[in-house]
Amino acid sequence: MLHTKYTVLALTAALCSATATAQQAPFAIAIHGGAGTIERAKFTPEKEKAYRAKLSEAVTAGYTVLEKGGESLEAVTVAINILEDSPLFNAGKGAVYTFDGHHELDASIMDGRDRNAGAVAGVKHIKNPINLARMVMDKSVHVMLSGDGAEQFAKTQGMEMIDNAHFDTKRRKEALERAKKKLLMTKDYQANHVQLEPQYKMGTVGAVALDKNGNLAAGTSTGGMTAKRFGRIGDSPVIGAGTFADNQSCAVSATGHGEYFIRYNVAADICARVAYQGKTIKQAGDEVIFGPMFKAGGTGGVIIIDKFGNVSLPFNTKGMYRASKKQGEPAQVAIFSD
Ligand code: ASP
Repeated sequence: MLHTKYTVLALTAALCSATATAQQAPFAIAIHGGAGTIERAKFTPEKEKAYRAKLSEAVTAGYTVLEKGGESLEAVTVAINILEDSPLFNAGKGAVYTFDGHHELDASIMDGRDRNAGAVAGVKHIKNPINLARMVMDKSVHVMLSGDGAEQFAKTQGMEMIDNAHFDTKRRKEALERAKKKLLMTKDYQANHVQLEPQYKMGTVGAVALDKNGNLAAGTSTGGMTAKRFGRIGDSPVIGAGTFADNQSCAVSATGHGEYFIRYNVAADICARVAYQGKTIKQAGDEVIFGPMFKAGGTGGVIIIDKFGNVSLPFNTKGMYRASKKQGEPAQVAIFSD
């Protein structure tokens, strides 16, 4: 009798603790909308309000997926779709122009459970490139598809093709014209593209999330850099450079001067420091963003999340559009460095 009583008590205690663990399982999301020369003085109150509202909408939508028990991959996709559809950011509608006056979009996504990943580069007729990246991950045997091949694959999956002009915005067209004027004053304009760097790239979007099952995910979507040579591919679709996720360490999405982010393997380097050196995401992120890459001229930032739901958002530029929301806490939205 006594034995049975203790068994019941033990079972009840085990059940309570399992429920408590399930209830306490941390979940969180962080997003970015690009880094660059983003200074308070350049913002009207209306403009700042518009950016804050869109960042808040996207982070809340992703958070809601997690709160309902959805997967981190889904939260990342939902948040990025909102930013891709907004002309405020350099991804999807509002993407920057190539030197030749078109839009070529890059995106990637990674699942921290098994390091499965999907990416597309240089697509021109896909409204939400992150969705195609996810399809490449889920429905193909490949990790990265580019250009016509990626779009052909999209068609086989029943994805709608849209006109390249869908991505047009007056603001980005003017930025291209300004950039071209500056570039054409130099002899080898493509080689001098780097001079445009700080003010002409901004607005790539990305998200990282941890769901209630402890799974991390990361995704990034971009139009690249204004006046880029056609066919140029940046870090955003490169797994390890612009996007990385592994449940054992962290999930990262980057924004910045892609050439440097590729050379310094930014996203994977941060997670490697966490995995192999036992660094916190704050230490690892700061070391990479303010370390040798920055000294070499690489500007930008990252959003990082770990398996405990900690978030770190380092950037070495004047500002970075960013937001995060942790379990039960209000959303934090920020733009400038102060
Ligand atoms: N990283 C992107 C690229 O180089 C641009 C950006 O993040 O603003 O294509």
